Amino acid sequence: MCRLCTRAEAPAWAVHNPYVENGYRVTGGFRGAIRSVLMWHNETANIWSHLLGLTVFALLTTSMATGWGNAHAPALPASWIMGEEGESWDGAGGEALRATIASLASTLDAASSEEAVLLHYEPAPRWPMYVFLAGACLCLSFSGICHTLACVSAQVSSIVWRIDYVGIVTLIMASFYPVVYYSFMCVPALRTFYLVGISLFGFVVLSVMLLERFQAPKYTPFRAVLFSGLGAFGIFPLLHQTLFTWRIVPTPMVVTFWLEILMGMCYLGGAFIYARAVPERWNPGRFDVWGGTLCSHNLFHVLVVAGAYVHYRAALVLIAWRDHHRCDADATLLRTFYLDNGWLGGRHHVPWIPHGEL
Ligand SMILES: [Zn+2]
Repeated sequence: MCRLCTRAEAPAWAVHNPYVENGYRVTGGFRGAIRSVLMWHNETANIWSHLLGLTVFALLTTSMATGWGNAHAPALPASWIMGEEGESWDGAGGEALRATIASLASTLDAASSEEAVLLHYEPAPRWPMYVFLAGACLCLSFSGICHTLACVSAQVSSIVWRIDYVGIVTLIMASFYPVVYYSFMCVPALRTFYLVGISLFGFVVLSVMLLERFQAPKYTPFRAVLFSGLGAFGIFPLLHQTLFTWRIVPTPMVVTFWLEILMGMCYLGGAFIYARAVPERWNPGRFDVWGGTLCSHNLFHVLVVAGAYVHYRAALVLIAWRDHHRCDADATLLRTFYLDNGWLGGRHHVPWIPHGEL
């Protein structure tokens, strides 16, 4: 059984937050550490916040795999596909649009049934979403294990904190998979470029986190830069696709973009609260055990789960869109972007063609 002690009594390697005064577990060994999951100490809220988060993500994965809870693919609001319909339907633009639709409708009537089949509902691949869900489950379970076992010994503590980093890097890498895959589903070269790029970068960061020589305090800024660099890398594919589509509001990619901004705020807000030791720095000792849910690291944990959930919702938006609209949707978005801007020589307004009318 673990004994609880104060910060002054606890070994130096066990103290990470100078504002937490009590509730340090000692002398329990592996058995005591595992039993301490059901005790109150200064890691209880850290352990349980991520074990509960793990339960949520395990349920989301099961729900997706079995179809339980979402038997039907979510329908998309018509406005996402129509774009800014108001101006398109009036005046000369509206005339041109009606003429285009009429000609497309007659083409479709004449099309063979094989071509028509292509327009039918066909679910987008689910594996990129499972990569993300697996990354989230791995990160949350590694974190739960680390916070449970970190009190065993100096050596175990040094190993489990590295495992915690591995979980975080895996979550960052895995998060890019659904967003990059679904938004660049019809541009295979860019999709492969971004996915291979993020995976290689992620493996470099993983090696640095695992190698003993990079654990020295002098490498802390270097590790912080690598972590942030990996997260920042994700901005490129996101901005890349949003750039093409921002003029047509709302589109799934713009909706996803705002959700990802919210996710970024959760992660960065959590990292800031953690780094600044808010709120325990203002009242050391007050948030140790019973107020543990308010300690900076607990808030950081809760915000990580919230950020991952927002990301899951963002990926669902893209999946729902790709289930209903495949590469024809990209062609329409890109054509509107280039021709409306006159970048490819077209000065006239090219009307938006609703997918349902094709
Ligand atoms: Zn943690």
